[in-house]
Amino acid sequence: MIKAVLLDLDGTVYRGKEQCPDAAEAITRITNNGFEVRYLTNNSAARPNEITEKLIQMGIPCEPHWVLSSGIVAAKIIAQTYKTVGVVGNPGLIESLTEQGLEVTDFESAEAIVVGICHAFDYQMLRKASDAIRAGAKFYATNPDPTYPFENNRLAPGAGSIVSAVQTASGTIPILIGKPEHHMPEVVCQELNITPNQAVFAGDRLDTDILCAQNSGCLPWLVLTGVTATLQPNIPGSPTLMGLADYLISTNS
Ligand SMILES: [Mg+2]
Repeated sequence: MIKAVLLDLDGTVYRGKEQCPDAAEAITRITNNGFEVRYLTNNSAARPNEITEKLIQMGIPCEPHWVLSSGIVAAKIIAQTYKTVGVVGNPGLIESLTEQGLEVTDFESAEAIVVGICHAFDYQMLRKASDAIRAGAKFYATNPDPTYPFENNRLAPGAGSIVSAVQTASGTIPILIGKPEHHMPEVVCQELNITPNQAVFAGDRLDTDILCAQNSGCLPWLVLTGVTATLQPNIPGSPTLMGLADYLISTNS
């Protein structure tokens, strides 16, 4: 019995400033039928309040605590073990870490180092973060995405490009938090007090969303509103989220 619906954002719920076809109506039907909804984004700098505002303006149901970025989940996981953290990341990631009770410190005094998308990244930061990791700080990476889509169909370097630099300089492989790893759905299911097989994870990418669903034991659901153009023989899916709403309502009633 499915109790929760985890949704990728980009290409699944919205594309830039517009909702994906059927998204508002489908997600409204899903929440009206009693399913919990959570939005999972690999963008470590995403702010739940901003995403909630954007979704509500599109007519899509959302509350700030429904939004989980790779940064928020990294913060929750690091806070289970450590108190201090050094950050290679944007202000949104720093906010997520402090909200989970972590103290953001300089690299030398940090028990853990977390690396995400960082527009202020430079050689000095690379050197200090790598030194700290080599000296024993635990190395976390928010997500492995090499690039992210930018205006006019261009690509900008993503967190993965920065993570690779720190990995190379420190000689250490990080613990990866974001999709396609299992951590994000796992943390959501723990908080909802359900098992992963009681959740569907819907997304537009086979190499992140669908793989993440499979890695974490959620039911995968592919939609064609983003990067994937055709349905796959062995993966449940539908052209838009409306097919998921139909499936959930018909199988759970
Ligand atoms: Mg996507």
